[in-house]
Amino acid sequence: MTSIAELYRLQEVDLELQSARDDLTDVQSRLGEPEELIEARRAAEECQEALRVAERDFKDREAEADEQGRKIEAPSQRMYEGKVTNPKELEDLQQEVESLTRRRGALDDEALAAMERLDEAERALAEAQRHLEELTGTTGAEQDELRARQSTLEGEIASLEGQRAELAAGGDEALLDRYDELRAGRQGQAVAKVQGGSCQGCRILLPVNLIQRARAGDEVVQCNNCERILYVT
Ligand SMILES: [Zn+2]
Repeated sequence: MTSIAELYRLQEVDLELQSARDDLTDVQSRLGEPEELIEARRAAEECQEALRVAERDFKDREAEADEQGRKIEAPSQRMYEGKVTNPKELEDLQQEVESLTRRRGALDDEALAAMERLDEAERALAEAQRHLEELTGTTGAEQDELRARQSTLEGEIASLEGQRAELAAGGDEALLDRYDELRAGRQGQAVAKVQGGSCQGCRILLPVNLIQRARAGDEVVQCNNCERILYVT
């Protein structure tokens, strides 16, 4: 590759490559789980754990209340059988039954409160799971799109790199070096077309002799303002 026209074509490929690589970087940064989804999964796990605790608590309290119920059976049976006739003994027995019954009532209340907490934990878990499923659905579709875009861009980049290698193959090394140097700091534009007597890189009106030299094509002519290599079509 020696002509400025080919160098200009190389620049077009390089600009496309840069744009595709930028797009790919953007796509790759958006691939993976978003923070919101990670947070929703964590919340659902916490609700699951809270439900396990609430279930255990309810079972314990229910068992305690049942146990208390069994403790009342024997003394209340003795009381109603009428076998205890000693008034003092009967009074003690009555007090024991009353005390056990009060305790049973308190334990029943605790078991009821535990059941309400269990219901609440079940509702919270259902809500957290619904939110998680919703997010998984939308995020899944978005991630599929991003993966498809990534694959398209990778294909485009491979094809452009192939074109670039072909264009640069056997080229004038010194010219390619100068091209690379000029690209840096000029938004990747080392070559500028000349149109209406102006450099299209910096829009300045060019001296006529400079345009003539560039048109002749015997040498590499650069803009006297922005130093871009001039390409007269
Ligand atoms: Zn210029």
